[in-house]
Amino acid sequence: MNLNFSEEELQFQREVREFLQHNLPAHIVEGTANNGSVFVEKDIALEWQAILVKKGWAVPQWPVEHGGTDWTPAQKYIFSKECYHAGAPMLIPLGLLMLAPVIMAFGTAQQKAEYLPKILHGEHYWCQGYSEPGAGSDLASLKLKAEAEGDDYIVNGSKIWTTHAHLADHIFCLVRTDTSGKPQHGISFLLIDMDSPGVTVEPIITMAGDHEVNQVFFDNVRVPMANRIGEENKGWSYAKYLLEFERGGGFSAHRIRHELDNLRRLMAAAKREDTAFDSHGDIERKVARIEIDLKALEITELRILSAVSGGGNPGPESSIMKLSYTKLEQDINELSVDVLGYTGFVMNPVADGNPVRADYISSVVPRYLNNRAASIFGGSQEIQRNIIAKMVLGL
Ligand SMILES: Cc1cc2nc3c(=O)[nH]c(=O)nc-3n(C[C@H](O)[C@H](O)[C@H](O)COP(=O)(O)OP(=O)(O)OC[C@H]3O[C@@H](n4cnc5c(N)ncnc54)[C@H](O)[C@@H]3O)c2cc1C
Repeated sequence: MNLNFSEEELQFQREVREFLQHNLPAHIVEGTANNGSVFVEKDIALEWQAILVKKGWAVPQWPVEHGGTDWTPAQKYIFSKECYHAGAPMLIPLGLLMLAPVIMAFGTAQQKAEYLPKILHGEHYWCQGYSEPGAGSDLASLKLKAEAEGDDYIVNGSKIWTTHAHLADHIFCLVRTDTSGKPQHGISFLLIDMDSPGVTVEPIITMAGDHEVNQVFFDNVRVPMANRIGEENKGWSYAKYLLEFERGGGFSAHRIRHELDNLRRLMAAAKREDTAFDSHGDIERKVARIEIDLKALEITELRILSAVSGGGNPGPESSIMKLSYTKLEQDINELSVDVLGYTGFVMNPVADGNPVRADYISSVVPRYLNNRAASIFGGSQEIQRNIIAKMVLGL
């Protein structure tokens, strides 16, 4: 694989840089820098999404016929890298990058026409209803019951840890439509309007102090069968397809590089204040280790991107991605708190009157706390290792 950019690709890079310079508003960059959560604020993400939609650049991953670009893998790589470098936020992937590929692959023509434009234009804001109390890693044991009644399902039960359910207007759910066979059989994939009578959302506040996740309750919720994706009882295979995109469908390396740059800024500031800072080079050595692993992640992402651009899905290798980018990001979070030293003890050093250092500092501790959850969401690190052992290494 040739990793040097051609003159055409360098020209494209200049075009992207110029676009970002003129179209990425400062308040979006600021909101992104101060964000301590997994996703940026909904308003910020949707504003940036609208700007990209207008340019035709919102979803390079999608096929052109649905509003994607005809970019080469190298162009997609450049675009993602430049966006993170400029401080642009990640678009919320739940609808755009997780549900949409499933609708494209398994939805009817009518479902594609109905849902894809609304996802693209931010008219629908989706959340993911997979996990339940008692069904997380062992997802196939899920129980949210959907019983047929005429042309509808009647849905009863609960989903938990549902990110942004309090902000979403729609939820894609795995539901139990049959209990007679193996747990994996008898699951269906259902799209539910959050405004349906009988849906309620209860907040769960995390140790980082933020409201990101929820428990969603379904009490005799009537859902048209027309909202089912694919065949009844075959939802498990669509669910796994989606998880591959959740775990390894994008460019996490660029996001992490941006965070590494921020860590280096913190280190430089610490050195300016105290010349004895890291005099034994312990932190520098850890940063060098991160840099090496990040290079490896970048190359692996490029390999997966080449495969996906050829029309494939990320495959079980996406578990390698999830494992590596989670560890790298958490290592950076941890080192950032180390570099802050005693100021790291307070939740928000800037608000608490610490005059030192810049904007990024206020999100260091919330980000550290929030990102502990990355070992768990999207499938825990242990589960990713199990998948790699079985599906990639064939053990
Ligand atoms: C911040 C956050 C956001 C989330 N957002 C969503 C969301 O939007 N939608 C959604 O559906 N879900 C969401 N989740 C849920 C997430 O997918 C589950 O928490 C995850 O799958 C683990 O399930 P569990 O919490 O039930 O833990 P468990 O499955 O009970 O696991 C507990 C521990 O046991 C280990 N373990 C379990 N089974 C095995 C095994 N076979 N081998 C080795 N170790 C094992 C796990 O690794 C873990 O450490 C979110 C979770 C968090 C923390």
